[in-house]
Amino acid sequence: MTLISVNSPTSELQALDAAHHMHPFTTGADLARKGARVITRAEGCWLTDSEGERILDGMAGLWCVNAGYGRKELAQAAARQMEELPYYNTFFMTTHVPVIQLSAKIAELAPGDLNTVFYASSGSEANDTNIRLVRTYWAEKGQPERDVIISRWNGYHGSSVGSGSLGGMKGMHAQGGLPIPGIHHIDQPHWYAEGGDMSPEEFGLERARQLEAKIEEIGPHRVGAFIAEPIQGAGGVIIPPETYWPEINRIVKKYGILLIADEVICGFGRTGNWFGSQTMGIEPDIMTIAKGLSSGYQPIGGSILSDEVASVIAKTEFNHGYTYSGHPVACAVALENLRILEEEKIVDRVREETGPYLKAKFESLTDHPLVGEAKIAGMMGSIALTPDKAARAPFAAEAGTAGFITRERCFANNLIMRHVYDRMIISPPLVISKEEIDVLISRAWKALDEAHAELK
Ligand code: PLP
Repeated sequence: MTLISVNSPTSELQALDAAHHMHPFTTGADLARKGARVITRAEGCWLTDSEGERILDGMAGLWCVNAGYGRKELAQAAARQMEELPYYNTFFMTTHVPVIQLSAKIAELAPGDLNTVFYASSGSEANDTNIRLVRTYWAEKGQPERDVIISRWNGYHGSSVGSGSLGGMKGMHAQGGLPIPGIHHIDQPHWYAEGGDMSPEEFGLERARQLEAKIEEIGPHRVGAFIAEPIQGAGGVIIPPETYWPEINRIVKKYGILLIADEVICGFGRTGNWFGSQTMGIEPDIMTIAKGLSSGYQPIGGSILSDEVASVIAKTEFNHGYTYSGHPVACAVALENLRILEEEKIVDRVREETGPYLKAKFESLTDHPLVGEAKIAGMMGSIALTPDKAARAPFAAEAGTAGFITRERCFANNLIMRHVYDRMIISPPLVISKEEIDVLISRAWKALDEAHAELK
């Protein structure tokens, strides 16, 4: 085997990586052509690569490093737990202290009567769990025919067969025979791209009412749940018009269907409250969590259930679980992460201090000739790139070309921003300082200038 280390030349690391490592959402041709950027260290909001470059991480990894990189307390919590009890499971009537502590803490933080947690190792697994929870819930209530779940086009709920089906990413559906039966999609509340001549308020109502129309089309006795992200993340940080969620609330109550809020990105402070449901005024029966729960330091996710859902499921043996459900090391790290978020008042700072500061700076990007709108909630935001601001027009070239070019220019300027077609996204660590926000905005502006010149 070739011996390599963190000190090996970048080209050697890249060649070996391209030869033996298949990356998610990446083409082999790109890897072979260019080689992946090798990240070697991270501290706070800053990554270091194998060339010694320091890069501002405007995406908190994959929207997850809420407490920032390099937290010694989290490493120590993991080490302590590994020495004491590195593994035990929660199947067949056993439990352990970290899972008990974490569950009680999550119940304390979650709104309403969301008091019971079922664990997974990721958001995808948790949403797979949700499909089975919904169907088991209705079967236990004597209505097994309520097995349909409605979700949204361009929503993202994960990459496994079940969660990828719940998601509405057409590129994902095109591979591997998704969606599975029993999942139906309605359109997203993306006013900028799809609102036409309607006002955002009219459009929000129109899109919410698609849920009612879809329930009527399928038959109200068949529909078990509606799942959605409070704010779509991977779809391009789409913040729905203000009329959208109140109308969705009305419809799910009218038909008595379960509401699942996928909080995998929005949860744990990203929108300036502990949960995006609080920011958007949603009262879910089930919440999906992952990412910020451990700030990405350990793979852990889960479903938080209302008392009603938990009590119905508890009537039967729920024949479901993962080897790593409630993994003690992941739970210990998540618990320590929640302590940090709480004691350092990180969520409060996002809501009251750094979030408003970022919002003002981020919205000023609309002064750039390439930017049609800038929308942000707490620490998740996006800008739309356009050749014609008044018309809210997309670029005529292949969809995503402008976004791709801008992302590459960000990368070259040592800023990580992501693009979804022609929307550019930020989702930085929640601990980002005002000085770092200034750096982020000035690098984004420079990248936009360079992209603008390239696109002419
Ligand atoms: N749900 C949402 C809203 C997400 O954004 C993601 C991942 O980005 C997932 C679920 C899937 O989580 P994971 O990648 O941990 O499986």
